[in-house]
Amino acid sequence: MLADLALIDGNVITMDSSQPSVEAIAIKKDRIVKVGTNEEINPWIGKDTEIIHLNGRTAVPGLIDSHIHVADFGKVLTWIDLQDVNSIEEMQRRIRKRVQQIHKGRWIIGNGWNQTSFIEKRYPNLQDLDEASPENPVILYHQCGRVCVVNSKALELAGVTKETVSPSGGEIEKNAETGEPTGILRENATDLVWKTIPTSSEEELMEAASLACKKIVEAGVTSIHWIVTASNEISIIQRLRTENKLPLRVHVIAPANILDKTNGSVSILGSGDKLGVKVFVDGSLAARTAALREPYSDDQKTKGQLLYSQEELNALVVNAHKANVRLVMHAMGDQAIDMTLTAIEKALVEVPRKNHRHRIEHASVLNNDLIQRIKKLGMIVSVQPKCVISEFSVWSAVNRLGSKRVRLLYPLKTLTKEGIRVIGGSDCPMEPISPLLGIQAAVTRQFFAEEQITIDEALRMYTVNAAYASFEEKSKGSIEEGKLADVTIISDDPRKTPPSKIGDIKVTMTIVGGKVVYQK
Ligand SMILES: [Zn+2]
Repeated sequence: MLADLALIDGNVITMDSSQPSVEAIAIKKDRIVKVGTNEEINPWIGKDTEIIHLNGRTAVPGLIDSHIHVADFGKVLTWIDLQDVNSIEEMQRRIRKRVQQIHKGRWIIGNGWNQTSFIEKRYPNLQDLDEASPENPVILYHQCGRVCVVNSKALELAGVTKETVSPSGGEIEKNAETGEPTGILRENATDLVWKTIPTSSEEELMEAASLACKKIVEAGVTSIHWIVTASNEISIIQRLRTENKLPLRVHVIAPANILDKTNGSVSILGSGDKLGVKVFVDGSLAARTAALREPYSDDQKTKGQLLYSQEELNALVVNAHKANVRLVMHAMGDQAIDMTLTAIEKALVEVPRKNHRHRIEHASVLNNDLIQRIKKLGMIVSVQPKCVISEFSVWSAVNRLGSKRVRLLYPLKTLTKEGIRVIGGSDCPMEPISPLLGIQAAVTRQFFAEEQITIDEALRMYTVNAAYASFEEKSKGSIEEGKLADVTIISDDPRKTPPSKIGDIKVTMTIVGGKVVYQK
């Protein structure tokens, strides 16, 4: 038998402990048929075999992003990117360009501006935007995401006038003399306009999702765990599949309401083990809605918010066991994690399951007791390393949690040492899609640097561990004979790159099932 494709002269990191490093890979159809030295691959090469010379470049198993919001990512990609804009005039130029590309009345959304970079040294306002777009409503978010500038059309559609009172926790900025809105909306006031933007049509969503998938394979990702936010995304995934428009492999994580809708028998998009169901047990630390046992250190009045009672959650997990689906439990605070573990402990007694592979999403605020229970239950912990850095840098986790509790905030090394499987994701579009940036974040974190993990451990998060999480360890996660030919080729070996530069490594080729889906 001869190979269809051979990758030779490479530095192949297999993630297979029996043969960790090889030179070459032979691929037949969608499978890896041989890994080894160039000589060992040679007999597989015939006149019809396509040969890719890696010339020393590094190949790793196709990277898996286990937490990505594809539809949201796609929508953001259709926004105007204003990060590099250094004047209000340039901002106007980009709006005008967009106005010419779209229908009258369609919304123009953008993000990333920062008035401190503007040569005008002031905030943009309603007049600036009206000049560029009198008829299309415009909303442009500040880099921080909690402030925006809108035009008159947007205010009109939202019904915001001189008389409108600012909502609690937000501000409709008004001109001190005239009392007219300036176009700047802050915090909760941004929602007044945001919520009037119509939801995307199926065609728009298809377009956005396709665009996102293209960007995802460019980042070297061959498989994703697609976190479905809105139920219309499910038909999008089905259409992308039947129309053959998916350049990568998708594992679906559906919202919890799917459990009720299907009366315990979940059959869409792969049933049973193949489907993950996401349950929000609490909110986020950033918004102080993650449920803590003790009050927030920087706001003694609150302990956050549980979205289920213990009884409700117990019933939900039992239901999931009956439907044989895997749970993806969003739990950030120690209280929410405790409740999640209790519900799973109980359900395992009531409806035993041998190999549940339930996972906790984020599992932010841990302590030794919770870690031991996670280990005993065989729970998978899903972490987005780039977000970990943001938790410490964008706002102060130390102030929010106090010096004692903050010690075991995302304790990657402690979890790994305990033998708990940790998987990696981007949480894109919250953070950039790049797994290499995620790996960099995991190996270089400065807050409690003792929780840094090794490059090999970080790679496992995006390969073997992530494959295990979706019951696909037999076909994915490592470069081994018989496995799917999903391979990511990168410019440099992360093990030989200064840790702070890992994120700069370039993805040069992405191969899914033996097909080159991206080439730089
Ligand atoms: Zn997310």
